[in-house]
Amino acid sequence: MAAKNTAAKNTAADEPTRCTCSQFATEDGRTTGCTAETKRLFAPGHDAKLKSFLIKAGAEGAEVTRTVDGIASSADAATHAAKFAFGHMVTAGIKRAETKAAEKAERAAARAAKKTAPKQVTAKVGRWERTGTVEGDTFTYTDAKGATKTTTKFQAV
Ligand SMILES: [Zn+2]
Repeated sequence: MAAKNTAAKNTAADEPTRCTCSQFATEDGRTTGCTAETKRLFAPGHDAKLKSFLIKAGAEGAEVTRTVDGIASSADAATHAAKFAFGHMVTAGIKRAETKAAEKAERAAARAAKKTAPKQVTAKVGRWERTGTVEGDTFTYTDAKGATKTTTKFQAV
């Protein structure tokens, strides 16, 4: 890091440094894309940027590396986030994202099950109309007594 030859009134403490959110990267090289410099911990709005970055990484279970002054330390996203005031929001966000992902997987599974489940049809068995499922040439239905029956002698209605 080269010292900047700027105005003499700039003390070292006043010197802008790289925004804190730029210290973070996932193992596969994703970052917040930040190139900002700031005199504070974060460039304006970049705490939110880091927050969503850590939530996304956390939800994926990705390991995150923070590099400060050339020293890299790896941890999960929630562990990194715990060092900031918004840490609890990241933890909550990761949980929310995980719940959402689980629900999405559940819906996909339900859709797939629906697709493969045989369609309910009504067919005449003898003189009775029954509702059941047809597989090949076999009709599986529930009779008036609630018993499950199968037959190959039926007439779809
Ligand atoms: Zn930043």
